[in-house]
Amino acid sequence: MGEARLIERLEVSLNTPAGQCTSSIEVPTSFVPVAALVQPMRRLGEQALALEERKTLAAGKTISCRMGCAACCRMLVPISAPEALALKEAIGKLPPQRRQALSQQVAETRSRLEQAGLLARLTEIAETDRQLTDEEFDAINRDYYALRVPCPFLDNEVCSIYEDRPAACRELLVTTPPELCQDITANPVHPIPVTVRMSTVLALLWADVTGGPARLIPLPLAPEWADRHAAEGNGTWPGTQLLEKALDKVWQILNDAFHDRAQRPSGQLPPKPA
Ligand code: SF4
Repeated sequence: MGEARLIERLEVSLNTPAGQCTSSIEVPTSFVPVAALVQPMRRLGEQALALEERKTLAAGKTISCRMGCAACCRMLVPISAPEALALKEAIGKLPPQRRQALSQQVAETRSRLEQAGLLARLTEIAETDRQLTDEEFDAINRDYYALRVPCPFLDNEVCSIYEDRPAACRELLVTTPPELCQDITANPVHPIPVTVRMSTVLALLWADVTGGPARLIPLPLAPEWADRHAAEGNGTWPGTQLLEKALDKVWQILNDAFHDRAQRPSGQLPPKPA
């Protein structure tokens, strides 16, 4: 018989520029890997984003994103190390046939990226300790998008890992007509603001507990990254300690958001997210 896991339930209140929300978060009190924080933090992020969605709708705008529209699934999706490890775990629980099909799709995407000369640059993002500049990221994002390579987890224009999709996929919602998303470089596409990016929170948490960089990994390389870094992923910490650290990052980001808003002249829009 398995050991009973003790769970602590915390009421977490977030004060965001779009309003306040309170969320109930459960974490094991025992030692857990950092990937155990992925689900609770994503849920918290979705609640914070729901405030932005409500504000957007109240302003008379419409959110265009619908199931079956996968135009944004050809962009480079950055995921945090804990998400890469959680994704590997989720894939490992799929039936063997499905697992094999996914690994085939990942291999095909990888080979397409290699032929286009992008694989080495993406691998550098996944592995380097060097902080890449915004210009370097912009250039890689542009070259990746120009290829229009579908995400390896896209199946008949539907996300095949919907429940486990990265925070970055959940956070991209636009108010402009969906047809404009067919070319986001040529068309004016308006995403709704995201105050707290959970991929950033989880990347900072990873940096905090491992002493490494706040790494974001290109999604198609996430399964192989998780394989290479399995030993680091097996490290464990008390769940409550991990949650405390993650919430510290959230509050710091929210503080910065309020500060930025106060500094920005009224009517000036924030920079468009990458
Ligand atoms: S994980 Fe799913 S939602 Fe995200 S880019 Fe891939 S197919 Fe699209």
